[in-house]
Order: sequence, then structure tokens, then C-alpha cells
Amino acid sequence: MDRAACMREWIDAFVFPQANAWEERQQLPPAILDDFACRGWFGAALPPRWGGLGCDSETLARFCAEMARGSVSLLSIFTVHNMVCQALLRWGAADQQAVWLRQLASGAVRAAFALTEPEFGSEATGIRCRVARNGDELIVNGAKKWISGSCHAQLFLVMARAKEEGLMALLVPADTAGLRITPMPDLLGFRAAGIARLDFADCRLPASALIGAPGAGFTFVAAHALDHGRFTVACGCLGVIEACLRASVAYANQRTQFGQPLRRHQLIQALVADMATDLEAARALVERAAKQRDSQAAESITATTIAKYFCSRAALRAATDALQIHGGNGCSPEYPVMRYYRDAKICEIIEGSSQMQQLMIASHAFMRERPQRRRRHG
Ligand SMILES: Cc1cc2nc3c(=O)[nH]c(=O)nc-3n(C[C@H](O)[C@H](O)[C@H](O)COP(=O)(O)OP(=O)(O)OC[C@H]3O[C@@H](n4cnc5c(N)ncnc54)[C@H](O)[C@@H]3O)c2cc1C
Repeated sequence: MDRAACMREWIDAFVFPQANAWEERQQLPPAILDDFACRGWFGAALPPRWGGLGCDSETLARFCAEMARGSVSLLSIFTVHNMVCQALLRWGAADQQAVWLRQLASGAVRAAFALTEPEFGSEATGIRCRVARNGDELIVNGAKKWISGSCHAQLFLVMARAKEEGLMALLVPADTAGLRITPMPDLLGFRAAGIARLDFADCRLPASALIGAPGAGFTFVAAHALDHGRFTVACGCLGVIEACLRASVAYANQRTQFGQPLRRHQLIQALVADMATDLEAARALVERAAKQRDSQAAESITATTIAKYFCSRAALRAATDALQIHGGNGCSPEYPVMRYYRDAKICEIIEGSSQMQQLMIASHAFMRERPQRRRRHG
């Protein structure tokens, strides 16, 4: 059985039936994360030489779609963990990889990605969290907000600014003295994703905490991590659309109004048709991005951005329509569509909001289509 099919079975057996209750409790049970780790899934996208499963992007896409079909909170914990894995794989020094990658692949160490601050989100290059050198040590002060997976993480990849050297990417163990992790409860969605605020007060780190060159923290390390994050979020949105479609069809078959099942009302059929169309379009964009990523095509970053932009908007459309089809029942935790609606809205904000994706897509389009300079004759 392939990886995505295993995930599908596991989701149907252990996640789907419980996911609403976890969102209400605002916590994923530790046993579920332990089981996820035992199956090697935290290392799904790491190469076998580091103990990972070595999934290619096409397999990873189906794997993440299945995960999000069950629980977007679970997907978000995987997403940030994988972002840190990929940043280390690409930019970590050999000794940093040797220390961390096997532990990350096994899930013995779980990681989270800390870029956003109370005052800086979309304008990520403005961040103010500070890092100063003191002999061989790095000292971090400042705050991060909205950090997914924080309540389960043993390791954070933190972006901070050094006065002269610019932005740095730092590995900060969760038990570092001076680091306070404050859960952020009662959010709109992603309620079981262990989101927290991080406060750093004179956190002392060894020089080996620095990933990549000083000053390369955002342009290389964070940008690489965010590209991977956008991909898994796009794939997750595919899972949300599929979940919305299934729930809508099941409900429209079973619920009768005006003497016939909802499925016979043409206005309901129109909503289902749009959802099914969005699912196919989203799948095609994710598959295209996956192929480009696997062949390391120059356009893969834009293909991923387009997939994330389209899929997150399509997921919100699907969730809105699924809720509409469920009527009043859609507004109750008895059914899963309310959760899809809450989570889908957030997918339009994380890893760069829809507006930020639009700016990136437009900038690429203008660059690609720019008029050729006229040759001078004579
Ligand atoms: C549930 C959740 C989980 C998250 N997890 C993480 C995490 O794990 N790690 C992490 O670092 N961050 C995380 N974030 C933060 C997330 O990445 C930011 O919320 C996001 O980047 C937007 O930043 P902001 O909230 O500060 O909004 P702002 O940047 O203040 O933007 C507000 C609005 O203005 C728009 N806008 C901003 N600039 C422009 C512009 N130039 N042109 C047009 N429109 C613009 C935005 O699109 C948005 O609609 C998470 C957020 C949420 C809600």
C-alpha cells in the first residue's frame, strides 16, 4: 500500500471520528502524535539517509491532502515541522544536520517555525526580534506570535535580526532558559494546532545555533521553508475541498425538504458542481506544482504559489457552500463542516496571505511577459 493510502486508512480509523472533539478541547491527544511519529510520518519528506521516508512531492501531496481531510490542525503541525526539516536539509551545516535530522525524522524532536511577530506579519523582513553576539554566544530578545505547533515542539527555527549582520535563522531548543511559551487559545480555527506566543528574554545560544550564513536568514532559509509550507498547505486545502464535497453529497442525499432530498434541488446541485470543479482544478494545480518541484524546475516556486493561492480560496468557497448545504446543522459541532469553514479561512492567511501570493504571482507574470527591448538598427 502506498504512503497516501496508509494515511487515508489511518485518518478514517483514528482521526476523522475524533477531529471535532479535539478542536473543541483545543488539543491533539499526545497518543495520536506519538502514533504519527512511530509510523515515521514526521520524516515523510526527509531522505532515507536521515531516517526519513523519502516521499517525492507527488506522494507528499496526496499524503498531506489525506491528513488535512481528517484534521487541518494535524496538517499544520506536520507543515511547520517539515518546514524546519527542509530548511536544515538545504541550509544546515553537516554537523547541524547530524545532530538534528534523524531526531526530526523519527519525531523524537518536533519542530516549529517562528517568523511572525506581534507587529510584523506580511512585512516579514521588518521583524524586530534581536540577536546579539557575546563572544561565542548568541543572545536573543524579542517576541513571536501565532507559532503553530509550539505547544508540542522541542525545537524552534527562529528568525531574528542582528544589528550589523541582518536577519539570522537560529535553532532554539524549547527548554532554553529565558524562552516563555504562552498558548493562544480560542482562535477561529486550527484550534488543536498548539499555537502559542514566544517571548525571548536574554536567551543564550551557542554559535552553532545559526543556520546558513549571517544575513541569509530570510532570503534563503525562511524563504525556502515558506516555499515548502505553501506546498503542504495547498495540498491540505485539496483535502479540505474533498472533505467538503463528501460531506455535502452525503447530507444532500439524506436530508429531505419540500418532499424530496436536497440533491434533487437544482440550486443545491449547482453548489456541488462548483465544489467538484474546484476540486479538479485544485488537484491539477497541486500536481503541476509537485511535478515541477520533483524536476527542480525554475518555475516551481511560482507554480507552488499559484497552487497555494488557488487552493486556499477554493477551500474557503467549498467550505462556505458545504455549510450552506447543511443549513442550520452546518453551524453545529455535530457536523464537521463548521470546522472546515474555520480552518479554510485561515489557510488564506498563513504562509503568506492571498494578497501576498497575488503580489508574487503578478510580479512573476510581469517579469516573464516583459516586452523585449527593441534592437537598434543601423
Ligand atoms: C492560525 C495561524 C497559524 C499561524 N502559524 C504561524 C507559524 O507557525 N509561524 C509563523 O511565523 N507565523 C504563523 N502565523 C502568522 C501568519 O503567517 C500571519 O498571520 C500572516 O503572514 C499575515 O500576517 P499578519 O497577521 O500580521 O497580517 P498583516 O501583515 O498585518 O496583514 C493584514 C492584512 O493586510 C493585507 N496586506 C498586508 N500587506 C499588504 C500589501 N502590501 N498589499 C495588499 N495587502 C496587504 C494582508 O493580506 C492581510 O489581509 C499563523 C497565523 C495564524 C492565524
